[in-house]
Amino acid sequence: MFSFFLAFNFPLATLLSPLGTLAQDPRDATVLRLEKMPAFFSGLNIFNTEEPCGGLNGLCVPRGYYQRHQWGKIPVFCVENATKPLVNETTYCSPYDVEVYNVSYDDCPDHPVTMCRCQNASVSISQMHHDFGKVPVRARQWIRAVKAIPDQSCNGHICINGPCLSSTSVYLHEVGHSLDVVLGSQGRCVSDTDEWRDAVLNNDTCVPDGYSEASWHENFAQNTVIAAYHHTVRNIWDAYPGNASTGISCMKGALQKTIDLTREIFVYKKGMSCDRTWTGPVTFVCMGPEARKQGLCEGVEDSNIDWAKVTGTPV
Ligand SMILES: [Zn+2]
Repeated sequence: MFSFFLAFNFPLATLLSPLGTLAQDPRDATVLRLEKMPAFFSGLNIFNTEEPCGGLNGLCVPRGYYQRHQWGKIPVFCVENATKPLVNETTYCSPYDVEVYNVSYDDCPDHPVTMCRCQNASVSISQMHHDFGKVPVRARQWIRAVKAIPDQSCNGHICINGPCLSSTSVYLHEVGHSLDVVLGSQGRCVSDTDEWRDAVLNNDTCVPDGYSEASWHENFAQNTVIAAYHHTVRNIWDAYPGNASTGISCMKGALQKTIDLTREIFVYKKGMSCDRTWTGPVTFVCMGPEARKQGLCEGVEDSNIDWAKVTGTPV
């Protein structure tokens, strides 16, 4: 079981506010109603290989490269997995075992993404580079960092769980969480608005799949996956025609809204490149005392992890 983590690319001030809303009250009455909505699909991974037009996995990957950083320094968001509770509580990712990469694509060459890969993650950096590259650039540009770790907990950040090889829908789901914030007004998630919830609860008679019932944020992220398919692969209304009781129009309120919101982001135009600049560098800290001892932590502070809780690391 592996999970990916994609960090928003926001200045700290705006990062804290929207992320604070991610911890929704599970007793929220609207979520209780959401949970009762019928699911149209059994899962959205069908969009990865959908015939006859091919699926999201067939999206083009821009050329690019990845380059490993020297061992010793690590992004703050990657060091925290050294001591967090994990899937089976026996696997940890010591900071010393994290590979850090700059990952760049030719459609946004000046703004590389930082990727962390724990040495015991099954996914290779090559695969991460390839799969993440399928996300259209105007969506990909909102992600500044990705990590692959043997962990399913994401500690308030956006995350996904499960096998993630050649699963473009999985990356798009993650991107959907950041677009939920980006496309909202004044730092408020689209899915936290009454407008969004009314569209689902009062207009629609189904939701994309069972996971779309988990929370309003998951609901928006799953709609984003289908909207991306619509914009990049095949018209969704043609693919699943029919009325609200037979076709995908049972989710028309939320899905059309997502399609409209994401048109400029997902629709491919020749020569398209990123159109925003990162707001600041990823913050690095020292991997640990061993790296400090070897003189590889110049200019960065120590992390604040509790080394007594890190297993399998040099003493
Ligand atoms: Zn999610």
